[in-house]
Amino acid sequence: MSTDKADCGNITSLLQKLGEYLDQYQRFEHGDAMQRYENWLCTLGQPVPQQGVGIEKLIEEIGMTLIPNGSQIPNPGCTSFITTGATNAGVLATLAGSVASPQRLGLTAFNYLEELSLQWMADMFELPEHMKGVYSSGGSVANLVALGAARQWAFEKLGKDPARDGVNLSCRIYTTDACHHTVHRAAAVLGMGRNSVVTIASDEKGRMLPNALMKQLNKDKDSGTVPVAIVANAGTTSTGAIDPLNLIAKLAKEYGIWFHVDGAYGLPGILDPQVHDQYDGLELADSVIVDPHKWLGAPVGIGATFVRDRGLLQRAFTQQISDYLEGSFANSKAENSMDSGGIPYYDFGVELSAPSRGAVVWALIREIGREGLKQRVVRHNDMARYVAEQAEAHPNLEVVQEPTLSIACIRYVNEDWLDLDYLNQLIHREMVHKGLSIPSTAVINGKLAIRPCFVGARTSWQQAEELIEEVIATGEHIGANVCPVPQYCLIEEKRKYVAV
Ligand SMILES: *Cc1c(COP(=O)(O)O)cnc(C)c1O
Repeated sequence: MSTDKADCGNITSLLQKLGEYLDQYQRFEHGDAMQRYENWLCTLGQPVPQQGVGIEKLIEEIGMTLIPNGSQIPNPGCTSFITTGATNAGVLATLAGSVASPQRLGLTAFNYLEELSLQWMADMFELPEHMKGVYSSGGSVANLVALGAARQWAFEKLGKDPARDGVNLSCRIYTTDACHHTVHRAAAVLGMGRNSVVTIASDEKGRMLPNALMKQLNKDKDSGTVPVAIVANAGTTSTGAIDPLNLIAKLAKEYGIWFHVDGAYGLPGILDPQVHDQYDGLELADSVIVDPHKWLGAPVGIGATFVRDRGLLQRAFTQQISDYLEGSFANSKAENSMDSGGIPYYDFGVELSAPSRGAVVWALIREIGREGLKQRVVRHNDMARYVAEQAEAHPNLEVVQEPTLSIACIRYVNEDWLDLDYLNQLIHREMVHKGLSIPSTAVINGKLAIRPCFVGARTSWQQAEELIEEVIATGEHIGANVCPVPQYCLIEEKRKYVAV
């Protein structure tokens, strides 16, 4: 019998209770967290408890106060940003890992799945066999890790070690406006600076123009700068556009520059035969990232980086010999899970302690197979195309950007309104507050679009139909109840005109 106050034993009955609360939540019949703000704020906003309440009372608080006031994100109608609620397989595997394999260290079945699941993803997404991976917390860190490898490679070619000595040369990273701004942040963290990111012109769909890239590379050739990487998108965050990977890969090879593909959202799109060809050239990438916590439906906190040489990662991110890690493992044949640390993932990125993410990704794929994921991706891509077709056919809707993957960019038009951005902003806010259909917005070529991104496992055809109906009904409602706003009004001025 433990003397510690924390409960660490029998988990079965607690899980039964938690499961009931979560199932209630998963019916999505609760109101929004902000509708009951005072209610939970009073219950939760307590000073440090001197005496704990114990596990039974705690689980009641989790079930009664926390869970029903959670996020809208898992709601099937929520198509905001690129984010989704986890499916059960990932939730269960996360729980199993947090109890049975709390570290990514040692020769356990969990750690075996770290490598296996990375290989499964590489296989499903058609990455070449020599590409090996490492998990991290998400696309932000996955991009950072990939660019760390790129930086290492670029500097080693000059006989330098940037991980050891720092960066004392001006660097260049080439990408488009549409790239995720975690690329800029990664450049900052890696000591190259945000200004090292050079924007290459793109076409009206937001795809990099290879000619513009070539021009810039020629211009920079003798400038004394270090070309560290070309970053292409396989699915941009705003519209899901895919850069011409093949042409960019050829230029990268010709100019001897690292070719990185950000597929945080869009990499699984390769499973859809209708867009498969747009991924030609992916096999030439030096690094690729994907976020299992997007289309695969993993609980948030899982990104993956694949590189053509994990040795580069090790040289870029090693902690070097550390006294506190030395001597703890056997030099001889491993016969116990604690005889070896296993694959040194802790030297391939920026985390030492890390959860078992491999088991989660393994569970997601094991449950539904490649075929199940393919069906999800195809369904969501078809839904985005359907939304665009419906918008095309409706007199009060317009397509702002044709979908490539599962993102549709549309907007409501009303000839009485000069400022359609503002009209669509009002429509969007009203939809969010109603809570049936919760897309986000994006500015595409200067136009504010209503932007559903279909990625959630719970999100199906009904949500595509509801989205269109909701945009039309809300647009009509606002058209009938709100005075149109003149175009020249400033945002603050505009608010004064609103009288719903
Ligand atoms: C979402 C996204 C990221 C950032 O990923 P996080 O997991 O949110 O850190 C990076 N790149 C692209 C293309 C994305 O869509």
